[in-house]
Amino acid sequence: MNLYIYETDDSALIVDCGVMFGDGCLPAVDIILPDFTYIQNIRDKLKGLLATHGHEDHIGGIARLLSIIDIPIYTGRFTKELLSSKVKDHPKNIKLIAPLEEYLFGSIKATFFPVLHSIPDTYGVALEIEGKRIVHMSDFASLDIPNFLKRDDIYLLMLDSTNSIHTEDFKDEYYHIKTESDVADVLKDIIKNSTGKVFFTTFASNVERLKGVIEASEACGRKIVIVGSAMEKTIEITSRLAIIDNIKERLIGIKTAVDYPPEKLVYIISGCQGEYNSALYSVIKGERNLVSMDRGDTLILSSRIIPGNERWINSIVNKSIRDGVTVIQAADRLVHISGHAAGRELERVISELNPKYFIPIHGEYRHMKACAAIAQRCGAIVHILESGVCLEFLEDEVNRSTFPNTPVFIDNYGKPFNNLVLDELQHISKEGIVIIAKKGKRYFAKSIGVMLSKGVIQGLCTTLSNSKNADEAVKNAKKYIKKKSGHRPLVIKI
Ligand SMILES: [Zn+2]
Repeated sequence: MNLYIYETDDSALIVDCGVMFGDGCLPAVDIILPDFTYIQNIRDKLKGLLATHGHEDHIGGIARLLSIIDIPIYTGRFTKELLSSKVKDHPKNIKLIAPLEEYLFGSIKATFFPVLHSIPDTYGVALEIEGKRIVHMSDFASLDIPNFLKRDDIYLLMLDSTNSIHTEDFKDEYYHIKTESDVADVLKDIIKNSTGKVFFTTFASNVERLKGVIEASEACGRKIVIVGSAMEKTIEITSRLAIIDNIKERLIGIKTAVDYPPEKLVYIISGCQGEYNSALYSVIKGERNLVSMDRGDTLILSSRIIPGNERWINSIVNKSIRDGVTVIQAADRLVHISGHAAGRELERVISELNPKYFIPIHGEYRHMKACAAIAQRCGAIVHILESGVCLEFLEDEVNRSTFPNTPVFIDNYGKPFNNLVLDELQHISKEGIVIIAKKGKRYFAKSIGVMLSKGVIQGLCTTLSNSKNADEAVKNAKKYIKKKSGHRPLVIKI
């Protein structure tokens, strides 16, 4: 997750405050929030938070942060709209910035400059701290370097490393050379050659992609139907901000679509990660009134697979193909391009900005390492910054220290739970649980999530009758189950 703090003796400024999402490795974890302990410790000198763009890994933690600390959030139009619905209790905290204007946050100067990414109104941030110029890049696919940064005096560059690994492992074909208009051309070709309904899904915030598929559909004489709350929300915001011309007039409703033949319809639908509560999932399962995916239809999955979501996506793809639907993914045709710059663009940005120091950000460790290698080739002094690490830039040296960093796990009901509970959940998910109970002098046992034979359960109950107390019974149960079955379930006594 992304949360960076720039700090001087008298001022501090946060850039982004995101969340990470749980995956199969962390049962019952919905999202993972940053540890706000350090922020609370420096609250007196905090001047604000700059939100570079509206993706959840950059803004998902802001609502929780505002519930414990009252600070202004500065951001662009699209992100402000997204945040407004998330922080209903603190609407006045969200403030709009004007790009390319300099703002003063205590002793820190900051200027937002536009970058190209897969969501509208994405900004990098140029900072001036104690006379040193710092460029903090948002996620970005490409950058038109603004003139005010072309002065060859950049002290530190923080750069999006997410897609950097393609520099080393793959050659030209994986460099970021394709554009959204290339994707739109491919979408048009697919839609033109489809004989049934077309279902198109991507991340709802990818407005440029939506614009591409809307234009492609219209060019093929098809009507466009929006399905799913995330897509509806994006259409609402793009209409309010006039990002896509006359967007609402160009759509038809789900009820109206029933009167059109299948070959005249394109459904733009939420759920590109196969989420079980999404509109796409419900349509594929046949659980939706008025919208159905039938034999001969086409499904376009126009997004990358977020690691951890493979099995959900594979499940909807398999079900669709089994039902006679043609499924097209990024591996088949150019229906998706990355919103993150790959090797060639990263190298160009680093060499043109020519920073003294360089820190790769946003990616996993392997991405940061690959990005660091590019920066080293460009002559920068590189530091890798992991969660909970503080770098102190002094006149002639850079000191490294650590600060409290225990991520907070949030369950599906929005409630935090601690690591001990998580350990138990992981134990149960892997090994199951055995519950033992004593009635009179006799013991009873029940296993859940672990297959124990009738003989083992009976033997266990007999063995436990020799236990002196509850603790010893639990200990003996663990020993007996392991010896007889090889399993190590969580054992509890009630
Ligand atoms: Zn992003």
